[in-house]
Amino acid sequence: MNQINKNSVLIVDDQETSITALANILSRDYKIYSADNGQQALELAEELSPDIILLDILMPDMSGFDVIEKLKASALTKNIPVIFITGLTSDDDEETGLRLGAVDYITKPFKEAIVKARVNTHLKIAEQMRTIERIGLTDPLTQISNRRGFNELFDTEWRKAIKKRYEISFLMIDADNFKDYNDIYGHQQGDVLLKAIADVFKESAENPDCAARWGGEEFVMLLPGTGSEEAAEIAENIRKKVEALVIPAENGRPTKITISIGVNTIIPDDETQIADFVNKADQALYKAKETGRNKVVTSRS
Ligand code: GH3
Ligand code: MG
Ligand code: MG
Repeated sequence: MNQINKNSVLIVDDQETSITALANILSRDYKIYSADNGQQALELAEELSPDIILLDILMPDMSGFDVIEKLKASALTKNIPVIFITGLTSDDDEETGLRLGAVDYITKPFKEAIVKARVNTHLKIAEQMRTIERIGLTDPLTQISNRRGFNELFDTEWRKAIKKRYEISFLMIDADNFKDYNDIYGHQQGDVLLKAIADVFKESAENPDCAARWGGEEFVMLLPGTGSEEAAEIAENIRKKVEALVIPAENGRPTKITISIGVNTIIPDDETQIADFVNKADQALYKAKETGRNKVVTSRS
């Protein structure tokens, strides 16, 4: 396995000899980072996002128990598995370590093979957790974010925009007369159309995670740091691209499809609600539908 694809391990121990011993065991299979105190460990954990942390408990200034509490309190580091590797051998200490969120507890002196096996096991579990999480946030048909995944991103971006006082734009997108397509071409070809539309969104978004399937034949796109005029231009480009699509059909004529888009822009503050912001984009979309479809309408608020 090359260096780039190797999992990374952060070893935290105040004793150089312990770090060296663990690095010797693990450096063939993993990329190794080390810290000799708690503060440095927290900084490296945020900066490097290691795949696993091996954490000593008895250290001057900040104990391993303090370190894990801080790791678990931060959104950036809370999902990194932590294994305690410590000279503290009592059941009480082990219980404390596991209660604070460690996935495992190994006492010194340790056996090489056991350290290796446990690190390997917990890396595998963490990888599986990530896969499950990704599946839960992805729409199976179009392979873009689903509503759950989008809402997580929306919350984060909304808070960032409040803090840094910049504009955020939102597109609410709906396929035109989609029921008719299903009726004429069949549900399966309807699915092909939805996939083709999603591909256009994914390509058009600066960050592909910002394009999502909201449900049914409705899609959304978030444009952080984008003003009203630019958002309307982006929406118009997407509308044109979808209009130009010719979607192959297994049997029968190739299909054409159009979409309508509602756009809303805001510099959010603590008083503004995401739901109101979304509603206004939805009202703009409704207006696009009412006034002929295949068009972009910007909310006036
Ligand atoms: P409008 O232009 O007003 O949006 O008309 P519409 O027909 O698109 O709107 P309506 O909400 O009446 O119908 C939406 C249709 O989308 C009905 C539903 O069967 C179809 N649909 C929703 N989800 C899927 C899907 O996953 N696959 C397929 N093939 N069709 C879907
Ligand atoms: Mg529709
Ligand atoms: Mg609809």
